[in-house]
Amino acid sequence: IFDEYTIKSLIRPVPDFPKPGVVFRDITPLYQSPRAMRMVADSLIQRYVESPVTHIGAIDARGFLLGAVLAYELNKPLVLFRKAGKLPADTLSESYTSEYGECHIEVQRDALHGGEQVLLLDDLIATGGTFLAAARLIKQLGAEVYEAAAIIDLPDLGGSRRMQDADIPTFTLCAFE
Ligand code: 5GP
Repeated sequence: IFDEYTIKSLIRPVPDFPKPGVVFRDITPLYQSPRAMRMVADSLIQRYVESPVTHIGAIDARGFLLGAVLAYELNKPLVLFRKAGKLPADTLSESYTSEYGECHIEVQRDALHGGEQVLLLDDLIATGGTFLAAARLIKQLGAEVYEAAAIIDLPDLGGSRRMQDADIPTFTLCAFE
């Protein structure tokens, strides 16, 4: 049974990290709780087990942890969306502006193909820049975002709204206003 109160109590607000004025939502206490992690994983597995998702797309770095669990349980290929300069071989790159500045995200060109349906995973939606850039990469490779899922939404930063405006279906397990 999913218990939002338990999940939220394991997300620690850290003021002024990584820079003054930002309240960082630290999910390491959640990752350290097997019971809470199982709730998160089971909720996502249940949501997608009968979906037409063909690939799991995991975002560097906290999204990798969720991505691995979902790819294993749903028995789907795991595609990594990495920060600039980490992936070898032929890559596509997209840039975006986050709360912290200019960022780049990359994927290997042979990782996805036309008609494929990607479940994108990350820990948190802030401005939505990361998910939107990953979604552009998926589109450039001819595939589609089935849904973008995260543990946390920060609606005040407008990311989930921007994703909705870009027609990217979005799902989150909890929100901090
Ligand atoms: P966005 O691109 O939506 O502005 O930011 C989301 C990305 O930055 C995610 O990859 C997420 O891991 C990271 N991020 C931004 N703010 C936070 C935060 O407060 N807590 C955590 N855990 N990650 C954050």
